[in-house]
Amino acid sequence: MADIEFKCSHCEQVLECPGDMAGETVDCPSCENPITVPLPGGIIVEPPRTCPHCSSELSDHAVLCIQCGYHLKLGQRMETDLG
Ligand SMILES: [Zn+2]
Ligand SMILES: [Zn+2]
Repeated sequence: MADIEFKCSHCEQVLECPGDMAGETVDCPSCENPITVPLPGGIIVEPPRTCPHCSSELSDHAVLCIQCGYHLKLGQRMETDLG
């Protein structure tokens, strides 16, 4: 089986794993976070992140949707009285 090349979703380090490790969870040698080896087929391209509340496109590291105020980590909208 061909090696699988993919990026760590935590530190973006490019990694290679034997093809038979697809679907397994390994520790990233760079940042030591657990990552899942993707199925073969090259580097996995992540779909654009969108707000689960209003479907606006979000930047890579956004935790708060600027369109509707949805907080991704809290899983709820931030209620504001600012209008
Ligand atoms: Zn990593
Ligand atoms: Zn939103």
